[in-house]
Amino acid sequence: MSADGMIIQGRTGDWEVVIGLEVHAQVMSAAKLFSGAATAFGAPPNSQVSLVDAAMPGMLPVINRTCVEQAVRTGLGINAAINMTSVFDRKNYFYADLPQGYQISQYTQPIVGEGEIEIVLADGRRKNIGVERLHLEQDAGKLMHDQHPSKSVVDLNRAGVALMEIVSKPDLRSPEEAGAYVTKLRSIMRYLGTCDGNMEQGSLRADANVSVRRPGDPLGTRCEIKNVNSIRFLMQAIDYEARRQVEVIEDGGEIDQETRLFDANNGTTRTMRSKEDAHDYRYFPDPDLLPLVLDPAEVEALRAALPELPDAKKDRLMADYGLSEIDATILTEERETAAFYETAAAGRDGKTVANWLISELFGLLNKTGRGLADSPITPEALGGLVDLIGDGTISGRIAKDVFAEMVETGQAADAIVAEKGLKQVSDSGEIAGLIDGVIADNADKVAEYQGGKDKLFGFFVGQVMKKSGGKANPQMVNQLLREKLDG
Ligand code: ADP
Ligand code: MG
Repeated sequence: MSADGMIIQGRTGDWEVVIGLEVHAQVMSAAKLFSGAATAFGAPPNSQVSLVDAAMPGMLPVINRTCVEQAVRTGLGINAAINMTSVFDRKNYFYADLPQGYQISQYTQPIVGEGEIEIVLADGRRKNIGVERLHLEQDAGKLMHDQHPSKSVVDLNRAGVALMEIVSKPDLRSPEEAGAYVTKLRSIMRYLGTCDGNMEQGSLRADANVSVRRPGDPLGTRCEIKNVNSIRFLMQAIDYEARRQVEVIEDGGEIDQETRLFDANNGTTRTMRSKEDAHDYRYFPDPDLLPLVLDPAEVEALRAALPELPDAKKDRLMADYGLSEIDATILTEERETAAFYETAAAGRDGKTVANWLISELFGLLNKTGRGLADSPITPEALGGLVDLIGDGTISGRIAKDVFAEMVETGQAADAIVAEKGLKQVSDSGEIAGLIDGVIADNADKVAEYQGGKDKLFGFFVGQVMKKSGGKANPQMVNQLLREKLDG
């Protein structure tokens, strides 16, 4: 992939991939969008269903202020226009998980208008992805087909839970960009506390609209892949779908605008249904709900109370600690990670701390399937290790062993170094002694080296380091060896 997007090389030439994402994010709120029923995940089936959610006759929806505030805060977090008046519409369709026979959503007048989300590309460049709109709508219940041999059952706990649907412009150009976009959006919402972003539990789902075209051509016909529930699957689904479309077109066929499903078992997409048009839903303003009118002073108060968001934090870490765009992006994805980093880096070399955190600690946590919250190493302990490298007490090489020991025993770095005698040898007399020993033991190699076989220098360095148990200061070994062998 080039930094300017993915190009598929077909039989007949190059194809560009175009992607627009519709993300459904469950609003963090104790109660549903139009009822007081609870929203906790994992409650017994149908234990969080009010008469409104079950669509009993005569029930009326009452808007939940918290959900409105969360949508506004999310809009502010993606630098979007907040619409001071918005309208709830009925989107009419029949399905067994939707007792009302319609979903209350927003159509022509959403609560949030255009915004943008910045992503960082693989080479560290930034790209802004346009957001078309964010609207509030109800989630549906959940049908289960595996609970009974001949019947399907429905759990309405999720029916009526507030969702934010966030629709991007068709600005994304590769699976990687799509992955970075969802990651950034999730990160912003987690900082704000407006969506927990938990894709396994379904609180964040993405639909991917994918099309292909010749570079520079107008947009091609898109297919929509529904309800992908992990970022890895999303990227796989887009990649597969784009290649499928190229093949269809190159074989002389046409792309039908349709809704497709991703099959995680084999990484492919398949037809679910042909695309319905908006007029099929008979949208009309919900007569049970007044237009939603926001108070400008309240919106300003919400804006003033926003926390520092990922982009601002990233810029600050780059300025304060000299971090690269990529490292700062990684460290600011989660607020907890940034806090861990800033504690460990306080008063220390920011780049060294970032390297240890990203390559060593994250590597270890990934391997053992843990998160930073379960880290066996505290920020202070990591800082302590970096201090020992910084002041020359241990080499970077020995530091890796110390780190492994810290993970194993939970001991502090300096205690391990003292106990195991791992202090770096920087005494020139002691190192000279080791070198003399190596020279005496390898008279033949010394002669070869001095006869012009320069490559042997590395052999001598290795021998001296070995004799020191890895503890000799490598720069001093190099320097003293040169003096003795070349001098
Ligand atoms: P619908 O309700 O029909 O799915 P939306 O407006 O809600 O329509 O969403 C359309 C989504 O599809 C947006 O994310 C938009 O960026 C994207 N999109 C539109 N045209 C294309 C295209 N030709 N290729 C890829 N994505 C597209
Ligand atoms: Mg759609």
